[in-house]
Amino acid sequence: SSWIEEFVTSVESGRSPVATGGRHAERFGGQLVLVTGAGSGIGRATALAFAEAGARVVAVDRNKEAAARTAESSRLAGAPAAWAETVDVSDEQAMEKLAEKVTTEYGVVDVLVNNAGIGLSGSFFDTTPEDWKKILDVNLWGVIHGCRLFGRRMAERGQGGHIVNVASAAAYQPSRALPAYSTSKAAVLMLSECLRAELAGQGIGVTAVCPGFVNTAITSTAHFAGVDAGEEKRLQQRAARLYGLRNYPPEKVAAAILRAVVRNDAVVPVTAEARGARWLSRFAPGV
Ligand code: NAD
Repeated sequence: SSWIEEFVTSVESGRSPVATGGRHAERFGGQLVLVTGAGSGIGRATALAFAEAGARVVAVDRNKEAAARTAESSRLAGAPAAWAETVDVSDEQAMEKLAEKVTTEYGVVDVLVNNAGIGLSGSFFDTTPEDWKKILDVNLWGVIHGCRLFGRRMAERGQGGHIVNVASAAAYQPSRALPAYSTSKAAVLMLSECLRAELAGQGIGVTAVCPGFVNTAITSTAHFAGVDAGEEKRLQQRAARLYGLRNYPPEKVAAAILRAVVRNDAVVPVTAEARGARWLSRFAPGV
């Protein structure tokens, strides 16, 4: 089987991607991979998986210590070089500075993973305009800035590349509990498909990765801010019922991201419930 099948199997069998002994060290050798939200969860696992596959890694997070930890772990995992950058992806000027610095000091990014995102639960009428602004600023504008700034440089270089946008199964599965979050992710999904069409002729792939419920900080209690304890428990239980809440580790999403880059997949529903929702959805039947 191909290296990527082996890699995915090793992840699915419970071995960490950083513990596969560097067998795939050359697959992304020489490539520069930038991951946003790399300090935690899916972003951290993705940075480490690319590191193990031999990429040079730029770990970007608004949390400075978390970004530094991922850069350090990336070096240990096999990245020939890894850097940490502290940036809020919703800050256009900061993103411009980042793109300029990365291009000048490390080179043109070959693989961009727009992963940084925040969660927000609450019914539509409980969601304030401030809440909407906050979530769209990070989840949508963060992706727009990343695609514009790094995608343009990829296109100008003329040697191809790949952009992965981490959307969510929430992008095509309506829910009363997550209207703002789901709307932000639906926008990321469509943005990805439009950009994919635009960049196809230039050898630049664009993938929307849509995980279901994954065990990370975003799905932990910390992200039910403003929700009282009883309500939080109820929402958690609903999510558990809705998504099965299996013990789905971020490393499996990372493996799906690497596979999507290798295969140039368009839309990748990760986790069983995300795949199920995709086919059931009224909104994306043809995706
Ligand atoms: P996480 O909270 O563990 O990690 C998110 C990381 O992004 C954190 O390190 C955080 O500091 C960083 N971040 C947040 N806002 C930022 C900003 N404005 N600028 C820079 N960095 C920022 O969460 P996760 O579950 O790993 O989420 C990663 C992505 O996956 C998100 O886009 C999320 O919406 C998406 N996702 C997660 C799940 C899930 O069940 N965990 C499901 C579907 C989609």
